[in-house]
Amino acid sequence: MSWEAVIGLEIHVRLKTEQKLFCSDRAVFGSKPNTSICPVCMGLPGALPVLNSEAVNLALRTALAFGCTIHFESVWARKSYFYPDLPKGYQITQFEHPLATKGSVMFSGSEGDMSVSIRRVHMEEDAGKLIHGENLGSPGKSYVDFNRTGVPLCEVVSEPDLRSSEEARAYLGELKSILEYTEVSDCNMEEGSLRCDANISLRPEGQKEFGTRTELKNLNSFKFVQKAIEYEVDRQTRILEQGENVIQET
Ligand code: ADP
Ligand code: MG
Repeated sequence: MSWEAVIGLEIHVRLKTEQKLFCSDRAVFGSKPNTSICPVCMGLPGALPVLNSEAVNLALRTALAFGCTIHFESVWARKSYFYPDLPKGYQITQFEHPLATKGSVMFSGSEGDMSVSIRRVHMEEDAGKLIHGENLGSPGKSYVDFNRTGVPLCEVVSEPDLRSSEEARAYLGELKSILEYTEVSDCNMEEGSLRCDANISLRPEGQKEFGTRTELKNLNSFKFVQKAIEYEVDRQTRILEQGENVIQET
């Protein structure tokens, strides 16, 4: 049987602001660990977040660049989970009521001009960063740097409109150049300013319904995105050819 790949990307963009999303700590990359933190981003009792309007303006500009509908009212949500790089125990993000929905990105793919629909653009805060001792000569230990905690991100979620790793790469390239041109982000991928989660499923050629997807998280180079998709398409093809089912997982 011949299989068609179906791919949707979730992109996290670090917005180019001076300060964090809900406090006035500097939001710059590369400072000495844990020097850009305060009671708000550390989630200390009694500390209250104050929204950074500069971040909202950049997120609005991002949404407009993709032709999205901006919602006059959008709502913050708490996404609770436990992880050592998340001092509050929850991430402030947008869930049911995002900043903007329904846009598109035009780019030139392998078979001419293509358009990918954007499902939503929302804002959220970044988490801190774990540094594992293996790289510092102290194996078995992990260290946490909270400087990144609360840095503003914009998440751009596409519809599952992409059909190959090459298309995904071309789409990402166009997206990056729009984000650079509009000056919403420096898009420095080595520093994690642009990170991608890829959702991938297969379906028999000609079938309308989507298959079961898997999600590959935190890919930070175009080459890794392309290679990860190729690996996953191969893996799912082998599973389906054996008559087995793909399990939805991350
Ligand atoms: P979640 O928040 O659980 O990751 P979403 O509904 O926000 O779920 O979807 C995430 C991404 O998955 C979107 O980019 C979407 O296009 C993509 N996606 C959804 N279904 C499929 C599928 N069957 N195959 C590939 N990608 C998919
Ligand atoms: Mg996801």
